[in-house]
Amino acid sequence: MTGPVGTLREAPARFAGGLTEIAPQTYAWLQPNGDWSESNCGLVVGGDAAVLIDTAWDLRLTRRILAAVADEVGVPIRTVVATHADGDHVNGLQLLPDAEFVCAEAARDELAGENPGALRWSQTGVHLLRRFAIGPPRRFGAYLDWMLSPFEFRGIEVRGPDRTFAGRLQLTVGDRELHLHHLGPAHTAGDTIVHVPDAATVFAGDLLFTGVTPNGWTGPVAGWQAALHAIAALEPEVIVPGHGPVSDLGAVAELDRYWSWLTEHASRLLADGVSVDDAAEAIVRSDAFAAEPWGRWDCPERTVCNIVLIDRARRGVPTHITHRERPLIMWKVARLAARLRAGATPA
Ligand SMILES: [Zn+2]
Repeated sequence: MTGPVGTLREAPARFAGGLTEIAPQTYAWLQPNGDWSESNCGLVVGGDAAVLIDTAWDLRLTRRILAAVADEVGVPIRTVVATHADGDHVNGLQLLPDAEFVCAEAARDELAGENPGALRWSQTGVHLLRRFAIGPPRRFGAYLDWMLSPFEFRGIEVRGPDRTFAGRLQLTVGDRELHLHHLGPAHTAGDTIVHVPDAATVFAGDLLFTGVTPNGWTGPVAGWQAALHAIAALEPEVIVPGHGPVSDLGAVAELDRYWSWLTEHASRLLADGVSVDDAAEAIVRSDAFAAEPWGRWDCPERTVCNIVLIDRARRGVPTHITHRERPLIMWKVARLAARLRAGATPA
């Protein structure tokens, strides 16, 4: 047995972690609380083989998942599917060298731009900032140090796929069918869901966050909502989000409503000339926000990322936040997190 799976940081777990059977021969690996890089995986067993959906952000955590699968299921993983190219879903792929790795073409292109080695240097850099800097750099260092500290980035190698697809792909494992649908760009360009019809289950990757504010790196928001509608059209009974507890179509509808709500409220402020940063702060501090379900979601500071996407779409420019732009966006995210924690009044 792998023992209880708690959160990766100090927070008490909001839901049970570890390997959970969600339908016959169909499992989710849940990593509470679904906060930054506390990502879930899936496993579908057919006959004497299994398909793994996603890995964790580092090798140590991925080994823990693989050990739980070996102990509690005991069927070899022959195929691994990545729902997208973010490191917290693919950084353990090298531990399954004999399994065929399948992802969308767009995810393959994004994987080529990943650099897990840089995470090690970032981890050291932000730790030093937290300890020795003062003022805003210290705040930035503290936030990213908190975000990165549970992970061990040594030895991670980017693995390219053995098979890619565009649109849809059907995989067969034993007597089971898995339908892969590429629904990006939304959270990332390569966003893919895995639909398992005989289990009425969808593994949604980061198209669904439950109980935690989503963060969009690519957008547009309209594309994300179209992806949510595509998931709903499959009428699944069980949906495993990329982050958060096992969910259902209610969570999909709620996230769809969040995007409409945020687009409406942010667009009004942006049209009045309010900056993205100030719009994000004003929104998450508003009574209207507190009255909605998202007023209770973790990581409200990610609203900054989401309003960047909304702002760019309004201005008719590409919404994608590039790797080069991410440090500046994270600077703003850290700033908002610190301001919310301190209870500071809006500037
Ligand atoms: Zn993720």
